[in-house]
Amino acid sequence: MRKAALAATLLAGPLAAQAPQPAQIDYAAERAAIARFQDADQRLQDVGWRLARANAPFCLSIVPSIGLQLQDMASYGVPAIARKALGLTGDFAVQTAARGSPAALSGEFPRNREIARLVTLDPNTLPAATRFEWKRLAKVHGHIGAMLTEHGDIAITFADGETARVQPVEVCASRFELMGDGDKAVADGTRVVIGIGFPAFAYPEEEVFAALVAHELAHNALGHDAWLDSKGRSDRNVRRIEREADRLVPWLLANAGYDPAAGPRFMRRWGKAHDSGLKMRRKHEGWDERAEHMEVELALVRDFMAREGKADWATHFRREITPER
Ligand SMILES: [Zn+2]
Repeated sequence: MRKAALAATLLAGPLAAQAPQPAQIDYAAERAAIARFQDADQRLQDVGWRLARANAPFCLSIVPSIGLQLQDMASYGVPAIARKALGLTGDFAVQTAARGSPAALSGEFPRNREIARLVTLDPNTLPAATRFEWKRLAKVHGHIGAMLTEHGDIAITFADGETARVQPVEVCASRFELMGDGDKAVADGTRVVIGIGFPAFAYPEEEVFAALVAHELAHNALGHDAWLDSKGRSDRNVRRIEREADRLVPWLLANAGYDPAAGPRFMRRWGKAHDSGLKMRRKHEGWDERAEHMEVELALVRDFMAREGKADWATHFRREITPER
C-alpha cells in the first residue's frame, strides 16, 4: 500500500483528468513530487540504518544488508508517467542508499539509477498489477536479502550495462518504510512504517527524529508484536510494551552515536504539541511520564558508555515483559 497514496498525490495535479494527453503532463512537477518523497525516505533510511547497524551486536535477530532500497514504477497510479518522469526504460531503479551503508560507500547507487538485474534475476520479468502494485517490490527486496544470506554478496547490474558487486554487513532485522500519506508511526515485527505526515519529519535535528525511529525499532527489537499476539492487545499490555520501547530509546540512540537525551527531548516536544486524545491516554502514559521513564535510563546508559564504550541492552536492560521465544 505504501506508494498508492503518493501516486494519488502525484496524480492530483496534471493527471486529474481521465485521459490526459501527453502534452498536458508536467513531467518536471511529477519529478519534483517524486523527489520530495525520496528526500523524506532518504532521511528515514539514513537514521534507520545508523540505529540498526550500531545496535546489531545486541539484537536477537540480525540480517546481512547493503542498505539499498529500490523503487518499482508499477507502484504508481500511472507507471508510464513515473517511468518517463525519471527517464527509465524498465520499472526498477535506486530509491535510496542509506548513508554509511555498503551500497552508499560503493558510490554505485545514485538515486534513480536504473536496475536491470539482481544476480541473474531481471526484476521486470516478475508479474505485476498494472498500477498501484506494491507486493513486487517487497518480493524484490526479499530476493536481495536471500542472495546476501546465501552468497555473502550480490552482483547488481544496471541498465547501462555496468555491474556492481557489494558485500553486506549485519544489521538488526527490521526494514524502514515511508508511507506516502498519514501521520502514524508503527512497528509490525519486521518493519518500521512511518507516514510522511508524522510531525517528527518536520524536526530539523536528526537526533530528535532518530528518537522516534528508535522507539519504533525498539518494538521490533524487543519482539513486542509477537508478545501482543500471544498475550492479547489489552490497554494494560499495550502500555507495558510502550513503556519498554520508550525506555530502550536512549540505549539505541547512544550506541548509534546520538545524544541519548534526544529521547526525552523528542517526547516532550512531540507530547506538548500532540498529546491528549482519550484513546492515546489509555494506551500510553502521559508524555511527561514517558519522558521521565526515558530520563531514568539516561544515567545507566551514560555510565555504560563511559565504562564500556557501548550500551549493551541485551545484557543490562531491565525488561517489562518476558518475550516469546
Ligand atoms: Zn510505540
